[in-house]
Amino acid sequence: MALIVQKYGGTSVGNIERIKNVAKRVARSYDEGNAVVVVLSAMSGETNKLVALTQEVSEFPIGREYDVIISTGEQVTVGLLALILKEMGYKAKSFLGSQVPIVTDSQFGSARIESIEDERLRAVLNDGVIAVVAGFQGVDPEGNITTLGRGGSDTTAVALAAALKADLCEIYTDVEGVYTTDPNFCPNARKLEKVSYDEMLEMASLGAKVLQTRSVEFAKKYEIPVMVRSSFNDAPGTLVCKEDKEMEKVVVSGVTYNKGEAKISVLRVPDRPGIAAKLFRPLTEEGINVDMIVQNISHDAHTDLTFTVSNADYKRALKLIKESTAAVIGAEEVVGDPNISKVSIIGAGMRSHAGVASKMFEVLANEGINIQMISTSEIKVSCVIDVKYTELAVRVLHDAFGLGTNEIVEEKD
Ligand code: ADP
Ligand code: ASP
Ligand code: MG
Repeated sequence: MALIVQKYGGTSVGNIERIKNVAKRVARSYDEGNAVVVVLSAMSGETNKLVALTQEVSEFPIGREYDVIISTGEQVTVGLLALILKEMGYKAKSFLGSQVPIVTDSQFGSARIESIEDERLRAVLNDGVIAVVAGFQGVDPEGNITTLGRGGSDTTAVALAAALKADLCEIYTDVEGVYTTDPNFCPNARKLEKVSYDEMLEMASLGAKVLQTRSVEFAKKYEIPVMVRSSFNDAPGTLVCKEDKEMEKVVVSGVTYNKGEAKISVLRVPDRPGIAAKLFRPLTEEGINVDMIVQNISHDAHTDLTFTVSNADYKRALKLIKESTAAVIGAEEVVGDPNISKVSIIGAGMRSHAGVASKMFEVLANEGINIQMISTSEIKVSCVIDVKYTELAVRVLHDAFGLGTNEIVEEKD
């Protein structure tokens, strides 16, 4: 008997009819002789509505009560699915994060899973019960409800698969797998049969929201094979797994975009040791993540420093930086720009191929797209551009690296 964790996202549980469809899939897997743990998201749009409610009553709502509110969407769907399965004659039981329990730290709004106790789930599975677990939520050591960051149900699923030593973790969503780029953005995107943990990590963290980044970190750490597939048909999906020789040959396997960041520039910062530390400390203390950082060459002992943060943190970051530059650093001006987007190319084969970055810059230049910031790693190149060119940039890069066709750009020898 295999143990399978199946996660269904918001669109897949968007209404009663769809939840009934999920129930049929779950039942099929159970009837095939598997022990099944189901992880659900809230109905699509629900978490956004709950976030909007918190914003109506508070300028900076993130904190204990925020998580109490935005975690409720999942409570509804798990209850409904368990009820439907029971109506169909199956044994099923819903679990909230705190009832498993899935223990996290206390970083409200983006908590990290610290441990999962598996006794309760194992006990019900041994009794032939289908366990239906609320995604996205946990509980901290003090008993406070926490949430795992947007898209966090993926992480619940993979972390449960790791804790239960499941044979497979299936992520059911509204597309048939992981594509060379967002298939809803670029019609000729191609579905990948397999993608390595490292490539998927980069793709997820650079904007491919099909999997939450943390879920891929868990999958990689515990070597959980993750199958991403559609909940609407039986098409084969994409397997996220360890890198193999074939994958290394593909120079660029995906293009991503992220419109969810904003840029902040601090102008004429004194060029002295310790200044960057002072500048970023208040952000760290507030739990704000800084992504790309660019510092210009110093002129007359002053330099310009530009960095990006997520849109959700933008207003708070701008306020903090303005305060700290005025009080401590003595820079001349702080300017913010939320109208940016980050486009990236990703591929394990970049490790062994030169010239990939310069080709990317050329392709963007040919379209008259100005590059505002650049960052690279072993297997990716990212450029920050004006948000209005996002779609164009993704399309031309996707074409230029031969991703839309079946012809993959491979090593020649
Ligand atoms: P769910 O609600 O099932 O968790 P999400 O909306 O979080 O679904 O993620 C699925 C969406 O991810 C797709 O509808 C697609 O628009 C988007 N996406 C972005 N990049 C990619 C990619 N490279 N491959 C597949 N989907 C992608
Ligand atoms: N419902 C949560 C969200 O919208 C978690 C998830 O769907 O994965 O972010
Ligand atoms: Mg999702």
